[in-house]
Amino acid sequence: MMLVDGDAGSTSDWDDRWNHIKKFLERSGPFMHPDFEPSTEALSGFRNIHVVDMDNIDVSNLNRQFLFRAKDVGRPKADVAADFINSRVPGCFCPSFYLYLEFHIIVCGLDSIVARRWMNGMLLSLLVYEDGVLDPSSIIPLIDGGTEGFKGNARVILPGMTACIDCTLELYPPQINFPMCTIASMPRLPEHCIEYVRILQWPKEMPFGDDMALDGDDPEHIQWVYQKSLERAAEFSITGVTYRLTQGVVKRIIPAVASTNAAIAAACATEVFKIASSAYLPLNNYMVFNDVDGLYTYTFEAERKENCSACSQVPSDLHFSPSSKLQEVLDYLTESTSLQMKSPAITTTMDGKNKTLYLQSVASIEQRTRPNLTKTLNELGLADGQELAVADVTTPQTVLFKLCFTS
Ligand SMILES: [Zn+2]
Repeated sequence: MMLVDGDAGSTSDWDDRWNHIKKFLERSGPFMHPDFEPSTEALSGFRNIHVVDMDNIDVSNLNRQFLFRAKDVGRPKADVAADFINSRVPGCFCPSFYLYLEFHIIVCGLDSIVARRWMNGMLLSLLVYEDGVLDPSSIIPLIDGGTEGFKGNARVILPGMTACIDCTLELYPPQINFPMCTIASMPRLPEHCIEYVRILQWPKEMPFGDDMALDGDDPEHIQWVYQKSLERAAEFSITGVTYRLTQGVVKRIIPAVASTNAAIAAACATEVFKIASSAYLPLNNYMVFNDVDGLYTYTFEAERKENCSACSQVPSDLHFSPSSKLQEVLDYLTESTSLQMKSPAITTTMDGKNKTLYLQSVASIEQRTRPNLTKTLNELGLADGQELAVADVTTPQTVLFKLCFTS
C-alpha cells in the first residue's frame, strides 16, 4: 500500500524538470475537468510518498514487481521500496514509516480482500457528518488496484460518496475450493493430488510431529507434500505435479504477471495525478483490464449499495425467527456474499449493560460464550428490533445490525 501526500517539499529542480507535467497543467484541452483553470501555479510533481508494508521481501516476490532485486530478499519491503524511489526520483521524500492521518490520497495495491475492506473501513471511519450531511473535506480518496494473472482492475473510491469496497463485495466471490469428493476419489488435475495430501494426508500422518501445522514457507514441509503428491498422481496417471506447483497450491499463490501489474499501476498513478491536480476528471469509477485473449478493457460506474454495511450509515436488518439459533446468525454473517465476515464477534446491550453473545478471538471468552451458539435468539433474551454490534477483522469499526423477527 502506498500513501501519497501531494505536498511539494524542498526543491532540487533542474531546468525543465517538470516540462511534461506542465503541458497537462498549464494548457487547456478536451479532456480537462470542466472546473479546472490551467495555470503556472498548478501542482508540479509529488514529493511526499509514504510506503507502508509490514512484510519482508521473499524470493517469490521478485518476478512480479519492479522495486525489489535478489540482493533485497529478507529486507523490509517498505524500506527497499522507499530506497528505490528515493534514488530513482531525486528530491522525492519517501519515508517508510508512517503516521495514519493527514494523507491526501491513499493508493492500495493489496493482495487480500480483508485488507482492502479494512482500509476502506478506516477511511469511512474518518468521515465527518454534520446533521447527516457529509463534510467533503473529510474525504480521503482511495485508489485501489488489483491483478490476478492477466486480469486486473483499478478503481477510484470517494468514501461516503461513491461505491466502496463493501458495496461491491459480490464482485469478489469467496475462494472456490475443489469439491472434496474429487480430491478424495476422482482426482483429474495435479492440484487435486496436492490438495489431497494437504487436506487429508498431512493431518493423518503428522509427518513433523503432532500439532505441527503445514507451513507453506518451510521447504521441508513442501518437500514432503510434493513427494506424497507425486505418489498420489502416479496412482491415477496424472502428470504435472512439481515442487513449484505444490508450493503454489499450499500457499494459495495467485500467479502474477509483471506486465499486468505495470498496466494497473500506471492506471492507479494516473488517477492519483488527476485527483491531486484536479486537472482531469477521475475514473468513474471501476476499470476492468483483461489481456488473457487479445486485450479487453472497459469502465463502468459501480453503484453504491443503499444498505451497505460499511458506508450506508444505516444499520442493516437481520431477519431471523425467534427460534433461530445464534449459530445461524453467525453462519449468515460469514456466508452471506454481501458480508463475508471472517470471525465475527457479536455483542448487544441488555438492561443497559453490554453483553458478549459470541467472541472467537480470545480463547477464554470463546469457551465461555460457545454455549450461546446452540441457544435460540428467544432463549438468549433478544427482542425484535434489538441492535447487535458486530466486530470483525474486515473492518476497524463495529457494524450495527438490527434484529428483525420473522414469524
Ligand atoms: Zn459501501
